[in-house]
Amino acid sequence: MPHRYSLSWLLAALLPLAATPVLGDDYTQARQHLLSEIERDAQDTSLYLDREALDPRVMAVIGRVPRHEFVPANQRSNAYRNRPLPIGHGQTISQPYIVALMTDLIEPQPDHRVLEIGTGSGYQAAVLAELTGQVYSIEIIEELGEQASKRLARLGYDNVSVRLGDGYYGWEEHAPFDTIVVTAAASHVPPPLVAQLKPGGRMVIPVGSRFLTQQLVLIEKQQDGQLITRQLLPVRFVPLTGGHD
Ligand code: SAH
Repeated sequence: MPHRYSLSWLLAALLPLAATPVLGDDYTQARQHLLSEIERDAQDTSLYLDREALDPRVMAVIGRVPRHEFVPANQRSNAYRNRPLPIGHGQTISQPYIVALMTDLIEPQPDHRVLEIGTGSGYQAAVLAELTGQVYSIEIIEELGEQASKRLARLGYDNVSVRLGDGYYGWEEHAPFDTIVVTAAASHVPPPLVAQLKPGGRMVIPVGSRFLTQQLVLIEKQQDGQLITRQLLPVRFVPLTGGHD
């Protein structure tokens, strides 16, 4: 009889689903899709960057860090879109492709000590923490810094220290750093950050006006202290604020 046939068909279709073990969280697929979008962006920008793909270690981390934990509840459904999202106080969590690219550019190593300026949600800090030894991150907006610090602790990132303050001046007590990642746009490269970068170290920073497009700049400090500076890609970040000019 037709209705029996359809019932058993339905059961047959549902049973394998019920028996499938649930791996990871509900966002596993969304993160996989995000990875393919980042791969496409990397190909689209390959002429700027002189490479076709990002470091597989970085991609694996982006495929694992729960970005939905770093966005406000009303943005969770957008957490794995390849877009910046509002996190309050007029600030944003950066676009995942840009987070991946900046992480790739500093060539992270497990023994690295990293300084991040602009903790924001803590997402970039978490990505860095997965690939390096210790991350020091500075945030100027008290509430964001406190929230990010608690969030990172709750998620088990015990190799991240967050401090409130003006990141323009760096974090002298823990200098020098193997790498420095600045996630807010500065009108110029802050000299204190250059001073706190190890010889042989790398810094990535968006430089330019707060109203126009900025350039993502990669700075390599040679063993003799000389700087090699490369402008890589037009980008758009929220401005680096604070008392300096
Ligand atoms: N890295 C963040 C995104 C940061 S948006 C993330 O992954 O979510 C830039 C952040 O830089 C904002 O939170 C802003 O408050 C902060 N910021 C701006 N000027 C700063 C300064 N002078 N020192 C420290 N943080 C600053």
